[in-house]
Formats: sequence, C-alpha cells, structure tokens
Amino acid sequence: MERAEILSLLASIKEKIDVAKDMKELIEVKNSELGKKSKFMSEALESLNQLIRTAPVEEKKALGAFINEVKNDVLSHYENKERVLREEQEKASLLAEQIDISLPGENFYKGHKNPLYLIRDEIISFFTDLGYDVYSGPEIENDHYNFELLNTPKDHPARDMQDSFYIDERTLLRTHTSPVQARTMLKHPNTPVKMIAPGKTFRRDDDDLTHSHQFMQIECLVVDEGINLAHLKSTLEKFMHKIFGPKRTIKFVPSYFPFTEPSFEVNVSCAHCHGKGCNMCKGTGFIEVLGAGMVHPNVLRMCGYDEHRFSGFAFGVGVERLAMLRYGIDDIRRFYQNDVRFLKQFQEEYRK
Ligand SMILES: [Zn+2]
Repeated sequence: MERAEILSLLASIKEKIDVAKDMKELIEVKNSELGKKSKFMSEALESLNQLIRTAPVEEKKALGAFINEVKNDVLSHYENKERVLREEQEKASLLAEQIDISLPGENFYKGHKNPLYLIRDEIISFFTDLGYDVYSGPEIENDHYNFELLNTPKDHPARDMQDSFYIDERTLLRTHTSPVQARTMLKHPNTPVKMIAPGKTFRRDDDDLTHSHQFMQIECLVVDEGINLAHLKSTLEKFMHKIFGPKRTIKFVPSYFPFTEPSFEVNVSCAHCHGKGCNMCKGTGFIEVLGAGMVHPNVLRMCGYDEHRFSGFAFGVGVERLAMLRYGIDDIRRFYQNDVRFLKQFQEEYRK
C-alpha cells in the first residue's frame, strides 16, 4: 500500500471518528476500522511492516518514524474523541439528575382546631389563670352522680328537663358536666374546691338550629367558707368580658335548678344594641347565656360537706352557645358536620 493511500485511509478513519455521536458509535468505528481484521491494521500497517523488513538500513529509521506517527495519530485522535464523548455523557447525566430547588414544593393541607375547641381552650386557660383545677369525669354516668347527688331524686319533675339516653335503669349518658362536681367533692370532703370540668354531654333533644343530642359543657364549682353571690357575679362578669369583650354587662334572672338555691339564668347585654332592645335580642336588650346559682345545701351535705360551714357557687355553660353568640353562627349542627368551608373561617382565630 502506497503512503498516499495510507494517509487517505487515515484521514477517512479520523473523519469517521469525528462524526461518531456517542460512545456506542465510537466503539463501532474502533471495531470496524482499527480492529485486527480492519483494512488499516491488516493492510496498511502490515504493508508498512513488510516494507521496513526489506528496506535499506538508511530508510528504516524514517519508515519506523512514519509508522509510529500514523499509529499515534489515529490513536490520539480516537482518545481525544473518547474523552469529549465521556465528558458530554457525564454532563448530560448530571443535567438529567439535577433537582430544581427553585420549584415550589408541594404544600400539604394543615388543619386547625374546631371553633368549639378554640373557645373551650380559651375558657380553660382563663380559669386556670385564676387558680382553678381542671377535672374530668365519665361520659357514661351513674344515675346516682348525674341526678341524686345533685338533689334530683327519682321521680323529681326536674328530671324532665334533662331527658337522656339510658343504657340500663341506673346508667345513662350524662346530661350535664355537673356529676364531676359531686365526684370531686366526695373525693375531698370538707375541703375548699375551685374547679372547672369541660366535656361532652348528651340529652334526648330533637336536633334543630339550637339543639343537639350531644353538646359540650363547662362546669364551674367553687366551695369554701364564706362564698357568696358577689363572688359568683364578679367571676361571671370577668368570664363574660373575656369571651364577649369588656363593654358587655350581665344580669341575673331568677330561675330554677334543683342543685342550686338561689338559681339564676345569666344574661349578657346584646352586642347589637347594647341593652336598648333590637330584633337580635327580641327587644329585651339581653341574651341568655348560661345557668348559675349557689350550691344547694342538700348537695353540699350529700357530697360530704358541712353545709353550715361551707357554701359555694356553680355554673354550667354550653360551649356551642358561647361560640354561636361570639362568632354569629346560626346553626349548632355546623360544629359537627366537618364542613371544611365552615371550619376554614376560624383559621385566623386559631393563629391569634
Ligand atoms: Zn339587641
């Protein structure tokens, strides 16, 4: 093979190396053009090797140099191309694996408290700040604690006000949180007590806008020597100011509960007309909020207290009612329906 022919073969191999798009193509070129059986190896180099064997001594050196030059040229050309292709491959794979940290992440929906629990927790922290203890009792209650110890014996007409779900003759779903009072007093007879008891209560009511068969109550009881109505009134005033704001006034309307004497319904001045009377308060200027009174001596006695030495006040408040009045909620059932559109409205309230 002539030198010119070898050089043109070399150029064509280099060209094929140049156009290889990836490593796979480059290796194909290597196998076909530079393998043992390739034209370059078997003919071109072989013919040069034969030439060198028969060439005169003075030409051998130049011939050897030419062979090396041809071999090195194609080899380094190949290696350069290989390096370029590997770099490109690496760059492409890095790009493919790249994570774009500037992309917005996936937000997960964060829930928040039901307005009932917002108010409940607010009330609990209000009373614990005043030094009250927080107690709880069973939701499935004994008739003895739910009624008898609270001065409501069997066949007492006041039981009609609190019809319940009975499990058997003596066991029912508690109709109020008041049994927790009896349970607490019985545990520590003749000891001053200052407590609240939040929890679920149940009554056999037909569900409507303002009634539900299940609702939440918070019970409050203070028993000590010398507790009187003024203590009750000032406590309730502070409590109502906390829930409804400092401008609201309260008034006591005589009422009847078997476990308190005297008993009151506590009214708070209407937020809309401030006591003048409007449609919201049916012209009375006030809205009924909760029931309260001085603990009946019979209750004190039955729960282990000396009723001549100790006196106390108690009240029970419906948490739903407070929430409805405070937030202007029109239907008690909204608290339990888990409608996200309703619950979302209290997100801001939760962040306060
Ligand atoms: Zn009004």
